[in-house]
Amino acid sequence: MTQTTARVAIVTGAARGIGAATAQRLARDGFAVAVIDLEESAAKATVRAIEDEGGRALAVGADVSDAAQVDAAVTRVAEELGPPTVLINNAGITRDNLIFKMAEQDWDMVMGVHLRGSFLMTRAVQKYMVEQRFGRIVNLSSTSALGNRGQANYSTAKAGLQGFTKTLAIELGKFGVTVNCIAPGFIVSDMTRATAERIGEDWDTYVAARAAQIPVARAGQPEDIANTVSFFVSEGAGFVSGQVIYVAGGPKA
Ligand code: NAP
Repeated sequence: MTQTTARVAIVTGAARGIGAATAQRLARDGFAVAVIDLEESAAKATVRAIEDEGGRALAVGADVSDAAQVDAAVTRVAEELGPPTVLINNAGITRDNLIFKMAEQDWDMVMGVHLRGSFLMTRAVQKYMVEQRFGRIVNLSSTSALGNRGQANYSTAKAGLQGFTKTLAIELGKFGVTVNCIAPGFIVSDMTRATAERIGEDWDTYVAARAAQIPVARAGQPEDIANTVSFFVSEGAGFVSGQVIYVAGGPKA
């Protein structure tokens, strides 16, 4: 299908993991990609990987939970790459603990990055999409949205992103903007590696135990999520909006 609109995408938390794989995939799909992460220097590695393949990318340092940094970052992207019409709200953190031990700061930080971050980024980017009468927003939820021991904060935030997705789909649809949500299962990344370390499990044993419970009999890779993002942001997916797709190697979390 011929792409007729501006092809500038923003991926948050794209210095590594799912975000980096998604940024690289979108660059291969023909997008100029803004690689946003906390540190611009960390985002540069993803930009280099895209440029090495002949793509166009820009490293931008911003904390997605800070309104001034978000607005400055999005303005810079629009000036240097063009109006952004694709936004992937991927930046994320975990601060796991059982509820009786969970500190207020750990609750607030997780809400700040996932919920406030996705809200601030979306608010800043949607005006370019509305002007272009085209847009694609993808929010990263998680199978943890269905409940996961030790993740009251993260699970709440990831469930919240599903409601955020559905409401935005209703508000922005008439401007040609679709909004969807991907809820990954177990994906190999620094985030899951840190979880294994925190609970004192050997990484290979940890991955094998998770893979044994997944119907397709393997752990997920960042590229599995990037492939799904690629579908959601395509022009041909214009009638798919407000959906949550569990990309978890099977029907259950
Ligand atoms: P990751 O490897 O930890 O990468 C997350 C990236 O987000 C990091 O580069 C991190 O930067 C960045 N980030 C954190 N806080 C930020 C902020 N305030 N502003 C800007 N960037 C920030 O995680 P991942 O596994 O790729 O996960 C990506 C997304 O998928 C997250 O939303 C996660 O919750 C979700 N997810 C992951 C899994 C999984 O199994 N891996 C499953 C379900 C959902 P620093 O490196 O500087 O901290």
